[in-house]
Amino acid sequence: IVEMKGMNKYFGKLHVLKDIDLTVAKGEVVVIIGASGSGKSTLIRCVNGLEEFESGHLTVDGHPLAPKSGNPKSLAEIRKEVGMVFQQFNLFPHLTVKKNIMLAPQKVKSSSETVANATAERLLNRVGIGNQADKYPSQLSGGQQQRVAIARALAMEPRLMLFDEPTSALDPEMIGEVLDVMRELAKEGMTMMVVTHEMGFAREVADRVIYIHEGQIVEQGKPDEVFDNPQNERTQAFLSRVL
Ligand code: ATP
Ligand code: MG
Repeated sequence: IVEMKGMNKYFGKLHVLKDIDLTVAKGEVVVIIGASGSGKSTLIRCVNGLEEFESGHLTVDGHPLAPKSGNPKSLAEIRKEVGMVFQQFNLFPHLTVKKNIMLAPQKVKSSSETVANATAERLLNRVGIGNQADKYPSQLSGGQQQRVAIARALAMEPRLMLFDEPTSALDPEMIGEVLDVMRELAKEGMTMMVVTHEMGFAREVADRVIYIHEGQIVEQGKPDEVFDNPQNERTQAFLSRVL
């Protein structure tokens, strides 16, 4: 569903992504790990066109994204099909939880109020906060807000979900409830690209773990291979720090 070939991305002179080749299959869960500043966020932001890139090829669900954008039609299609959840929940503070979830389907998909409402209720139950629908984001805990953000992304019926450190801003006791929702999604067959420092989650849920060092994929494999027997010395050093 995602195909990157020879992708390069610069911020000014800084070469942030170097010749990235990466294919993600439908239903696959890919976890991306690496040190701070290695390019993890930039990589997944490229997938839904939040960042442009300078050279290479990127296709998302059959829609090609050219280097330096120039492909607004693909971009619009990709944004409809790809859900993203950030470290900061980015909910609309002036809308209730339910309205947060209804907004995009009504605006982008022209869903009726009734349909959007039913979808929002179903999704809120699915992420375990059906009773919070009429509250405002500020009245919820961080873990609850992040579950709303996941429900909001799911309301667009995405074919791919991107997660950028979804639990990094949460108090420790709330991390589990968000990871549980993500684990369920993975079980149900959602295609996911996840940047996380939760190595337990990566080991358990990932089909593949990718280690990025200074903008390059230096190692990838099944979680057991990468965690128990890393081949690259950079991966070894990183894991010895975080495990
Ligand atoms: P972290 O684990 O801290 O989130 P990361 O692996 O997600 O790090 P990126 O955010 O992708 O790293 O950043 C990669 C590099 O690009 C860093 O050196 C960062 O300073 C730089 N960078 C990121 N965004 C921009 C930007 N908008 N303008 C200029 N440089 C940027
Ligand atoms: Mg990041």
